[in-house]
Order: sequence, then C-alpha cells, then structure tokens
Amino acid sequence: MTLSHDVQAIAYLISATLFVLSLKGLTHPSTARRGNTLGMAGMAIAIIATLLGAEVQSYGFILAGLVAGGLIGAVLAARVQMTAMPQLVAALHSFVGMAAVLVAIGTFLNRQAEGTLNAVLMGELSAGIVIGAITFTGSVIAFGKLQGLISGAPVRFAGQHALNAVIAIVTIGFAVHFAMTGSELSLIVMTLLAFLLGLTLIIPIGGADMPVIVSMLNSYSGWAAAATGFTLHNNLLIIVGALVGFSGAILSYIMCKAMNRSIINVIFGGFGSESGGGEDSAGAAAAEKGVKSASVEDAVYWMEDANRVIIVPGYGMAVAQAQHALKEMMELLEARDVEVKFAVHPVAGRMPGHMNVLLAEADIPYDHVLEMDEINPEFASTDVVLVVGANDVVNPAARTDQSSPIYGMPILDAGKAKNIYFLKRSMKPGYSGVDNLLFYQDNCSLVFGDAKDTIEGMVTSLKGGGH
Ligand code: NDP
Repeated sequence: MTLSHDVQAIAYLISATLFVLSLKGLTHPSTARRGNTLGMAGMAIAIIATLLGAEVQSYGFILAGLVAGGLIGAVLAARVQMTAMPQLVAALHSFVGMAAVLVAIGTFLNRQAEGTLNAVLMGELSAGIVIGAITFTGSVIAFGKLQGLISGAPVRFAGQHALNAVIAIVTIGFAVHFAMTGSELSLIVMTLLAFLLGLTLIIPIGGADMPVIVSMLNSYSGWAAAATGFTLHNNLLIIVGALVGFSGAILSYIMCKAMNRSIINVIFGGFGSESGGGEDSAGAAAAEKGVKSASVEDAVYWMEDANRVIIVPGYGMAVAQAQHALKEMMELLEARDVEVKFAVHPVAGRMPGHMNVLLAEADIPYDHVLEMDEINPEFASTDVVLVVGANDVVNPAARTDQSSPIYGMPILDAGKAKNIYFLKRSMKPGYSGVDNLLFYQDNCSLVFGDAKDTIEGMVTSLKGGGH
C-alpha cells in the first residue's frame, strides 16, 4: 500500500497539530502526561505516513534501523535515572546532528550523480551540514561533561573567543564555496571545521551551565532537522524542526532569566565549578563560623506543632530519591493538622520541571506545589521550612552579595521563616560552588545525612508519636 501525496500531506498536518498540542500539554505537570501521549501519537502517524510514502523503495534497512534503534531507545529509557536525563538528552541531540550531516552528504552525492543539483539545494545542504556538525560534537562534549567522562570545569585559554571567531568565519567561507561550486574538498573541510567548532564552542563552558547549553543544542538540533526537511522536501520535518528550534531557544531564554544571566554570559562566561559542588573547603570555613547542626528529632519536634511547614526540594532530593518518603511525611503531618506546602524554584534541580516531575511521581497533589512567586509571601508566616537537598535557590547571597556568581538570581524567601532545617550530607556548596549565607542565620540548622534516610527517620519518629 502506498499513500498518495495528498493523503500523506493530511497525515502530516494531523501530526503537526498533535505536536503543537503536545508542547502545550507539556507546559504544566497536570497535563504533561496527556502532552506526551499526544506527541507519541503524532510521531506514530508521522512514521507510518512516511514509511507508506511513494519515495520509499525498500524496507530492509529501514526495518533493521527501526528494530535496532527502538531496542536501544527502550532499554535506555527504562534504565535512565532522572538525574541523568540531561546527558541522555545531550546524547540524543548528537544523533540528530549526525543524521543531518549524513542525510545532507548522501543527498549531495545522489543528486550529483543524477546531475540535479541546484543553487537552493546547495545552500540547504551547506546549512544542514554546518549546523548538524556543530550540534553533533557540541552534544558529545555536553554528554561527556555531564556524565563525568571529561572535566565539567570551564576550560579556558587566551584567545579562545578569537579562535572560535576565526574557525566560524573560515567554516562559513568554505560553506559558501561549496554551495557555489560543489567542490568536494570544500565539503570535507567545511564538515571537519564545523565538527571542530562544536567542540571549541562547548568545551569552555562550565558544568554548571551545561543544562542551558543542552537546551541550546536542542534548539540547534531542531534547525538541523528543519534544514534536512528542506533537503528531503519533507514538510513535517520542517515544521517539527522549527518547533524544536524555537522551543529550545525559548527554554534557554527562560532558564537564563531564572538564573538572572544573559545567554551571552552563559556562552562566554565559564561560570561555576564541577557539577555536584566544589571541594569541602567551604565546609571547614563554615564550621569555624559556627553553623548549627540539629537532629531528626529536633526538626520533628518543631514540625509536628507547626501550623504550616514549607518543603523546598532541590537537586539533592533527586539524588536521594526522597520524594516518596516526603509524601509519607506530608500525610503524617497533615493528619496532625499541619498545613504542608512545597515551594518549587524555577531552576531547582538540574533541568526545567525536575522537581515537579519527581513530586508528581510520588503523587503529591498539584495544589500543594507552589511556584516561587505564589509562595514567597507565605514564608514570613511559616513555622518550619525544610530545605531538602536545595541550596542555591534559597541562598540570600543572590540578593546581597554583588560579587557572588548567583547575584541577581531570584530566590525563595526561606530565610524569613521562624525555623529552617537544611537536609544535606556535608558542608559542600551547591551547583554554583558558593557558600550559603543562610546557614549562618540564628534560625537555621543543618540536619546532616542522605535526604531520603533523614526523611525516613522523620517518618519513623512521627509514627512513633514524636516527642
Ligand atoms: P544545588 O545544586 O544548589 O544544591 C544541591 C544540594 O543538594 C547540595 O547542597 C548538596 O549538598 C545536596 N545533596 C546532594 N545529594 C544529596 C543527598 N543524597 N541527600 C541530601 N542532600 C543532597 O541545588 P538547587 O536545586 O538548590 O539549585 C539548582 C542549581 O542548579 C542552581 O544553581 C541552578 O542555577 C542550577 N541549574 C539548574 C537548572 C535547571 O534547569 N533546574 C539548569 C541549570 C543550572 P551535599 O553535597 O552536602 O549533600
């Protein structure tokens, strides 16, 4: 069975509509599942309509690719930890980039043999190869940094920006020459230079900024896909590429805004230390300054008599997988008429919506989960704030210390509550590598230990009747 061009066009239109509705669904945790389902339906229709198209001549290689890719994808999706999502996404972008390069080179060779090359097509091929190659090596470096295979620290040397500018200009020069002449030498040089540019552009960026870069590479992979869509005369690929390109760009913008940094600053700044925090030297300094530590029982004592407890989840909650224990603790506190709310900062964790996803996974009701602007006025009248593996997102240095790398980032007003308990394992700083000024406030104590163990201890204590 082969679909006519018109039927295929209608199927593509339905897919495109489903993708737009999918993106809309993904904007809120309560509709995210539906968004995913719509996206999967759209992709299923797109794949079937493409496979039944008149241009497909044999199914052997396609089936082999589908089975191999499907199997690898299914195993990866089933096994990946939530905290490793950013690097999985980076790895997937590298495939899109490489696919764009290979499709463009393959198309060039085919059309050259047929003698059907034209100026417009050559322009599309150049763009597809350059964007795709930058996306490929950039994403591989991002993956390596996030996975800890290469140093996450910013790698910088004198003249770096000038070198990048020179490589970019020479690449564009060869791309233009290739588009105008079809020179195979220019094709090879342009492709190799674009691979190199992806590497030199991403290697200087600090691990702390990697999530923004992954989102930017997501945007690039969209543009690479759109260029491939033009090459293959596939309207759906053009639409999907543009959707990915724009949504990745908008997401990068939102993330930068939430961190109060400009995208230029992210790309050229080299901010932050290795992901996972710096060395424990801040700890020694902090202990000298008299940071208070508290026991599980101390915190439970204040929580069970409180009118309101606000829980601030952060990256450490994801590492510890403490969300289910938190749900149980929430229920025990609510049974004692304590109002429990969750305060989610826009960049808590390591990717947008990280905390929302984990809290939803533990079935914590959406009406208990409040955004920063909604909850900030409530901290001043709150008895206990429990900071579960968060750090930067409550650090008052963002407001007061102009020299701090997080200066200007909007924060949760946890410091205004009567009592604050930080659940963390050590005195190590958070993602940005800076000391947290909140630790030194009189109303703040640290409960050391893995967040899940600590919360489970609190649950046991509450079940045992507390004090
Ligand atoms: P932070 O990275 O500031 O702090 C995480 C804290 O969790 C650390 O203090 C760490 O301390 C603690 N921790 C780690 N593992 C555990 C564990 N098993 N049990 C208990 N505690 C643990 O996290 P935040 O969520 O507050 O801030 C996010 C940071 O990431 C911000 O700087 C943000 O700008 C950045 N970022 C976020 C992005 C996003 O999209 N969400 C994107 C880009 C950057 P210890 O090691 O002592 O346990």
